[in-house]
Parts: sequence; structure tokens; C-alpha cells
Amino acid sequence: MPDSACPGCGLVLPDADRPQTERLNASAACQVVHDRVAAFEADHLPLARFRQLRVDAYGAQHAGPPTPAIRVAYGLVGLHLALDRGVSGTGVRSAHALMGRPDPDWPRFAAAPRAEATVLDVAAAGADAGSGLGHAEGVLRWAVSVWRAWSTAHAEVVTLTGRLFTGQERFWYSTDRYLP
Ligand SMILES: [Zn+2]
Repeated sequence: MPDSACPGCGLVLPDADRPQTERLNASAACQVVHDRVAAFEADHLPLARFRQLRVDAYGAQHAGPPTPAIRVAYGLVGLHLALDRGVSGTGVRSAHALMGRPDPDWPRFAAAPRAEATVLDVAAAGADAGSGLGHAEGVLRWAVSVWRAWSTAHAEVVTLTGRLFTGQERFWYSTDRYLP
């Protein structure tokens, strides 16, 4: 199999022997790794609390067509809430439900700068090592690296979040948090 780079995250892998499962700006081989990570998470109940962070990191790291703009906006708002404000996955899901459909005046987050980590690092630390703790730490490290790579968009994400949720913060903090 020849190698190719994922157009979203830059991960270079041998081509997959199956098509894409989701219409995203991601190679099929990158999606195979993401599916492996998601399956490991699903098999280990305590890791369910990392699901939303994983979904948001993957979406934000694969911005650009054909990834839907809503997936990128939800991902970036989710990363901001989780990593800057300690909102749990359940709280982020509540926030996404309140966000609804994108408005034409939402900023367009077109560029996906390269982050230091990819979903392959999460697989190596967790699923491929059979380590739940490795998965947990791997998802956090990866999500932080994706959020850091978007640093030029942080101000826009914070402004969008403030505009959408002022007065509704109680929804986020109704459950546990990632951070103290
Ligand atoms: Zn990728």
C-alpha cells in the first residue's frame, strides 16, 4: 500500500483498504485509526466522559471541505468550553444543543493549522497499548494540541461562545468537570 497524508491532520499512513466512513476532510486511513480509538473507548465505560472531547478534537483538526462548517464550529466551541473552562462532555453536549444551526454571522473557521498530535498518538497511548489511562491522557494531550494550533481563532471562538450562551452557563456546570 502506498502512503498518503491525511488532508486534515497531516498524518501519513499506508492507504486504507476501505472507503471513508464519514464525509470529512480526513483520509480513510486516518478514519480507521479514529474508529479504533472510538471502539476502544466504547469498550471501556469509564472512558465515556472523553467521548465529546475526542469528537470535538477530531472535527476541529479536520476543518475544510467536505467537513461541515457546523462540525468545526461545534468542535472549537467544545474545545474552548472543555479546556479553558472545565466544562464536562455532558455540559458541552448541552451547549451544542443550545447552539443550533450555524447563523450566517458565525465566523468561518476554514483553516486547520497542523497540531503537534494526531489521533494516532491517542491510539498508541490507549487502544494499541490496552491502556484506559493512556487513552484518557492521550485524548487530553491531543485535544490541547489541537486547541493550541487554532490559537489565532481563539478570540473569535470566545466571542462566539459569549454571544451564544450569555446567561445560560448553568447548563454547562450541571455535571462534573474535566478540570478542578
Ligand atoms: Zn487526519
